[in-house]
Amino acid sequence: MSPKAKAALAKAIDSLERYPDDFVLKQAIAGHLGLGMERIVLGNGSNDVLDIVARVFLAPGRSAVFSQHAFAVYPLATLTAGAEPLAVAAKDFGHDLAAMRAAIRPDTRIVWIANPNNPTGTFLPHDEVLAFLSSVPQDVVVVLDEAYNEYLPPEERADTAAWLADFPNLVITRTFSKIYGLAGLRVGYALTSAAIADLMNRIRQPFNCNNLALAAAAAALDDHEFVERSYALNRAGMAQLTEGLRRLGYDYIPSRGNFVAFRAGDAAAINQKLLREGVIVRPIAGYGMPEWLRVTIGTEAENARFLAALALAR
Ligand SMILES: *Cc1c(COP(=O)(O)O)cnc(C)c1O
Repeated sequence: MSPKAKAALAKAIDSLERYPDDFVLKQAIAGHLGLGMERIVLGNGSNDVLDIVARVFLAPGRSAVFSQHAFAVYPLATLTAGAEPLAVAAKDFGHDLAAMRAAIRPDTRIVWIANPNNPTGTFLPHDEVLAFLSSVPQDVVVVLDEAYNEYLPPEERADTAAWLADFPNLVITRTFSKIYGLAGLRVGYALTSAAIADLMNRIRQPFNCNNLALAAAAAALDDHEFVERSYALNRAGMAQLTEGLRRLGYDYIPSRGNFVAFRAGDAAAINQKLLREGVIVRPIAGYGMPEWLRVTIGTEAENARFLAALALAR
C-alpha cells in the first residue's frame, strides 16, 4: 500500500470515536477528476456501489444485460434486486457490444460493462464504448466498471469521466482496491449525473465508508509515485508471467488488468497441484471457463514461484 495512506491511517486512528465524514475524500476525487462533488457516490468497495445501482434501478419485472464471462457481481446484484439477468454470449472472451445492444428489452434498466473485464482482462476500445453509449436508450443506465482503469497504458486511456456531461444515464465505477492497494479497507466510488447520485445516496447506508478507509483513500489518491510504482510492477510482472506461460506452452488471454487468464486444460487438477505447492490461483469454471485459471500478477519472486509450481504441476 501507499506509504502516504499508511501515514494517514496512523493519524486517523485517533478519531475513531467520531462518525465518518466523507467530505474530504469526495473533495479529493472531485479535484482529481475535475467533476462536481454532487456527481460522486462513495461505497464500501465499488462492489457496494454496484449493489446500490442495482437496488435503485432494478426490481422484479425488470432486467439487466451483461456479458458472458463478465464480473460475477453483475448477475448477483441483478438477482438480489429481483430482476432478470440477461447474459449475452461473449466474442473472443470479451463483451460483444452489438449483441448486448440487441439484447436490451423494454424492461431493461441496466447494462453492466466491465472495462477492462475481470476475469478475462479483455478491453473495449473507448470509441466502441462511446458509440454503444450513444446507441442506448436514455432510460437504460449503463454501468461502466473501471476497476482496472489505472492499469491501462497511456495510449489506451481516455477521459471517460468527461462523457458524463453527455450521458446522464452513465455510471462509472472505480476502486481503491486494485492499483491503490487498499482492498482490505473497502473503498470505491461511482461517478454519475447529479440526479442518479442523489438516488444512490438515498439508498446507501449513511456511513458506508469508515474513517480509516476515507483517510487512507484520500491520501492514496495523491500518492502519484506509489501509483506509478504499482503500474510499473504490474507491467513487468505481466511480461514475466506471459513469457513464462508461453515458454510452458499455455495459451492466455492478453490482459489489461493485474491478472492473466490461461488455458490450463484440466484446470481443477492443475489447481490442486498448485495448492499443494502453496500457490493459490483462481479457478474460473464459475465464469463459464472450466479449462482456465486466472493468476494475479505478484512480485517478481511470487511470479517466479508460480511459474516453477506450474512447470511441476503439468
Ligand atoms: C475487483 C473488482 C471490483 C470491485 O472491487 P472492490 O474491492 O469492491 O472495489 C469491481 N469490478 C471489477 C471488474 C473488479 O475486478
